[in-house]
Amino acid sequence: MTKLHLITYGCQMNEYDSERVAGLLRDCAYELTDDQRDADVIIVNTCAIREKAEDKVFSTLGQLRLLKAKKPGLVVGVMGCMAQLRQDEIVRRAPVVDLVFGSPAIARVGELVERARKAQRPIVETGEGPLVKITAKPAGTSRLKAYVTVMEGCEKHCTFCVVPTTRGRERSHPPETIVAEIRGLVAEGCREVTLLGQTVNAYGRDLTPATDLAELFSRVNEVDGLTRIRFTTSNPYNLTPKLVRAFRDVPKVCEWFHLPLQSGSNLLLERMNRGYTRERYLALIDELRDAVPDVSLSTDLIVGFPGETESDFAATLDVVERVRYDNAFVFRYSRRPGTPAATMPDQVPDEVKAERNARLLTLTTRLAAERSQRLLGRTVEVLVDGVSRKAAAELSGRTRCNRVVNFDGRGRVRVGDLAAVTIMDVLPHSLRGTLAVEAEEAVCLSR
Ligand code: SF4
Repeated sequence: MTKLHLITYGCQMNEYDSERVAGLLRDCAYELTDDQRDADVIIVNTCAIREKAEDKVFSTLGQLRLLKAKKPGLVVGVMGCMAQLRQDEIVRRAPVVDLVFGSPAIARVGELVERARKAQRPIVETGEGPLVKITAKPAGTSRLKAYVTVMEGCEKHCTFCVVPTTRGRERSHPPETIVAEIRGLVAEGCREVTLLGQTVNAYGRDLTPATDLAELFSRVNEVDGLTRIRFTTSNPYNLTPKLVRAFRDVPKVCEWFHLPLQSGSNLLLERMNRGYTRERYLALIDELRDAVPDVSLSTDLIVGFPGETESDFAATLDVVERVRYDNAFVFRYSRRPGTPAATMPDQVPDEVKAERNARLLTLTTRLAAERSQRLLGRTVEVLVDGVSRKAAAELSGRTRCNRVVNFDGRGRVRVGDLAAVTIMDVLPHSLRGTLAVEAEEAVCLSR
């Protein structure tokens, strides 16, 4: 069999796309290999969200040049956001590359690889294409948890972001296609799905008849055998009372909400074109907490956006203190060519970004640790997903609020079970627990 090696950078969407590529090429008799030296085809799935991610891709392509020198028949492909955005530069700077393709062309990857094998010059396929739901997966990927793309693209045009350029306009998959995919996954052993979209809570408004994420929750909730539903990433702009009610009422939807704030300064939110103010954001957090008092909240934050002053940054610290997130992802602003923010005046020096980054991380880490303490002594529902990485005698799983729990249940519960676990210890990155004697002690965090 011909061997395929995939290198994936970036977000969950990219991981998902890589899986689809592996599945589609499997149907063309390609077998996945972990060892790039064995591969006949290597595809690098790229991310363009930060400059560092792009540098990493060019450095990987440099290493592949050495490999190809030893194995001239090797086909090297580049896909993902960088492929969509920087195709010319990739072809110019990395002559090792035989194929560059964007996400709309994924469905045709088999044909593209064949063309690249025979062609004398790089094949570039980065135009728009029809929205195709690809459900192919690599062999042996029946798993407990799966990502399911419910929509592609984004139309928000935040001034720092390349996604609207790389992924195009918002396009939703019909609910029946999504439900059919999830039924198939469940038949293969899946128990938890994460519904994915760049702006997942804008789902469905482009469909005829229009629908929304709340209605999709209800339909997915009816899939027998599925136990949990997660979703990401939501945009505050599209967070409606109907969605908050569905988040509260649909039983399989977990009590974990990722709601990017990006900045706590109204001036910066406006410059970022985020479409909400800090007051609106805080009101949404109140709505979520009123509906689901014990909701776990996570967020994305940017430090050093152009023009960010010390008082803008203080406004971000203030919102973070008020919300008390369970988890926060802090990013230093990175200039992305072609985005409006890249040419804004008052770019913030790197040392200032580094210093603010460190201060914000100190705060988010402290608050997350404090939030974790609330779980101490509680009995929570854990979806068992494997053996603990640190202690082979223990099992591991996640709570509905998405925390890792290691516990002593071997021989009594199995992978795939929902276990009731009492939390005995709260560590910085995980929880330790013990299997509750009575299974019926299992409680959801907020119901
Ligand atoms: S909503 Fe998200 S994906 Fe869309 S432009 Fe803004 S940051 Fe990018």
